[in-house]
Amino acid sequence: QARVKAIAAITKYKAEKPGKPVEGLKLEKLYGANVFSESVMQERLPKAIFKSLKKTIKTGAKLDPTVADAVATAMKDWAISKGATHYTHVFYPLTGLTAEKHDSFLVPDGKGGAMAEFEGKQLIQGEPDASSFPSGGLRSTFEARGYTAWDVTSPAYIMESPNGTTLCIPTAFLSWTGEALDKKTPLLRSLQALDKQARRVLKLFGKEPKDRVTCFAGIEQEYFLIDRNFFFARPDLFIAGRSLFGCKPPKGQEFEDQYFGAIPRRVLNCMMEVEEDLYKMGIPVKTRHNEVAPSQYEIAPLFEEGNTATDHNHLVMHTLRRVAKRYGLACLLHEKPFAGINGSGKHLNYSIGNSELGSLFDPGDTPHENMQFLVFCAAAIRAVHKYGAVLRSTVASASNDHRLGANEAPPAIMSMYLGEMLTDVFTQIKNGGAKSSKAKSVMNIGVDTLPPLPMDPGDRNRTSPFAFTGNRFEFRAVGSSMSVAGPQVALNAMMTESLDFIATELEKKTGGDTKKLSKAVQEVLQEIMQKHDAIIFNGDGYSEAWHKEAEKRGLPNLRCTPEALPALTTPETLDLFTKYGIFSERELRSRQDIYVEYYCRTVMSEANLVVKMAKTTIYPAALQYQKDLAGTGSALEKPVKDKAAALLDAVARLEKAMAMHLPDILEEAKHLCGVVLPAMNDVRAVADDLEGLVADDLWPLPSYMEMLFIK
Ligand code: ADP
Ligand code: MG
Repeated sequence: QARVKAIAAITKYKAEKPGKPVEGLKLEKLYGANVFSESVMQERLPKAIFKSLKKTIKTGAKLDPTVADAVATAMKDWAISKGATHYTHVFYPLTGLTAEKHDSFLVPDGKGGAMAEFEGKQLIQGEPDASSFPSGGLRSTFEARGYTAWDVTSPAYIMESPNGTTLCIPTAFLSWTGEALDKKTPLLRSLQALDKQARRVLKLFGKEPKDRVTCFAGIEQEYFLIDRNFFFARPDLFIAGRSLFGCKPPKGQEFEDQYFGAIPRRVLNCMMEVEEDLYKMGIPVKTRHNEVAPSQYEIAPLFEEGNTATDHNHLVMHTLRRVAKRYGLACLLHEKPFAGINGSGKHLNYSIGNSELGSLFDPGDTPHENMQFLVFCAAAIRAVHKYGAVLRSTVASASNDHRLGANEAPPAIMSMYLGEMLTDVFTQIKNGGAKSSKAKSVMNIGVDTLPPLPMDPGDRNRTSPFAFTGNRFEFRAVGSSMSVAGPQVALNAMMTESLDFIATELEKKTGGDTKKLSKAVQEVLQEIMQKHDAIIFNGDGYSEAWHKEAEKRGLPNLRCTPEALPALTTPETLDLFTKYGIFSERELRSRQDIYVEYYCRTVMSEANLVVKMAKTTIYPAALQYQKDLAGTGSALEKPVKDKAAALLDAVARLEKAMAMHLPDILEEAKHLCGVVLPAMNDVRAVADDLEGLVADDLWPLPSYMEMLFIK
């Protein structure tokens, strides 16, 4: 029996390699060792070429294609010195995964030998066959061509594996007509748009930064680690990524003895190897700790520029999965691998700014900075109120549906936590001008003698999806398996539109006269607060009362993916994204189609699995036990018989629901969500009852207790 064998195997587990300590000194040498970094480029590139490239990276200046040959040669020589034999254009298709196609550096030299070659054109553009990636009609199958284009703003790196190393080049992925087929392209477009509008606002404050204004992202990644033997003894886990059956363990997370507790040795060794690999690739991993649920953990690098942070998060997920195997573990990135205990999220700490300006969401300590901060903060308030539904739709997926609103993660209602102090300041602005702040200092937007705005002394609020945390916002609704590109594209676009609005108003009101700025800011912010303060909520986001209150305030509550995804193509959303060249209408519509289809496929394959496991794994166990009990006079005989029959009934009802198909894909998604998913849960409920009845040695699947507590 798979389950018995799994448990036996775990008790005999031997580490594949003993954990080796990473010493402080070595750490410094390790960090970034596999990155084609600025300093490597400076060392290996001709001066003029380095300068030109750096300008593109820092200021967003157009890439000069003539630099490509020199960069390619330097990159190749560097990679070969690191033992690389192949290079790959890494791209991020709409599946949310990472894709790569490897090519060897070697070309025949015509004399029976081979030589290493890598030219500018191979660096700049690749041509993977795109036919198997979702395009939502953007590319017909006969035109399978897709292009990858070098993203200079995210550094190339070396990926090591035991049998060789590969040069990895981050790229954008486009159709031959230039339409985005990936997650990176719109992110880059949104950053360009954000820079432009943020600069207009900054200019009013007398600032003209040299480098482009960008967004920063600090990404906290949650995940589970369980023994691989269990993983493979559970088809639901290794096929669907989550358990579709399993009764609650006698001991769950109620003791809260796991959170920030001592990390088990095997897990710690695994984490250390993950970190070592990530350091080498220049990923500034900072924290590791146990999370709330048993066998749940978190890893968080320091924040970085949004595009790089996104690529790095893909590498974090990839590395976690890869290294876990070496320690006999399986890394589960699904949002809800186990019912009844916390799921996994990915907090996106978001701010805008650049190295020169710092975070524009940082209140700072001079009056002038205060006013600038209030403007950027008001832009965020307006943005999240106006486009909350879009933001919600970027975190919609079949797997994240199990988590959002489940009293462990923020609700599906988008709101903003500002804290008491800032809420008070903005309320005063709304009522005609801030005269004082709750913390002793005096504040007046109408005159130029604004005192420093103290950092929010208020508590943190874990129930808010979008919380101000001192110098950034923390978006907590992102799912653990998702790319953070989507939410950032939405946030950048929303901020862009708000900053555009504010800049236009302020330019009109001041007519270039800086003396008029304070008054103009007060007026514009007052208007924003009058229209948009309904988004601010500092209370308990899990409470029933908030759901009612939010409805009164007119805030959308898009409970599940089929309800949330249509927000991607409302006229307002189309305006937002097309106005700033972030998505064309066709791109947006295709994305909505892809995501709806992906939802349908996910739920349908889970439903198939429920049917199969119920019929071929769980029912036979129940039947066997029924046979064992027959004639023994056991009081369990009847309940087992009844439950076994109920299981088949529930499966039959599920199959009937699955057989129904609707012509419209969105209607199909709603049917899956409203009818098929509940029918799956009904099957599960009966099966879980059986798990509590059938003799333990007959039960075929590893239990929650075993998976979560045997380490
Ligand atoms: P907590 O658990 O308190 O939320 P963590 O230290 O686990 O804090 O994670 C916070 C994340 O926020 C880190 O990745 C950190 O680098 C990031 N961060 C800090 N300042 C900023 C900022 N200005 N912009 C974006 N991210 C930030
Ligand atoms: Mg956090």
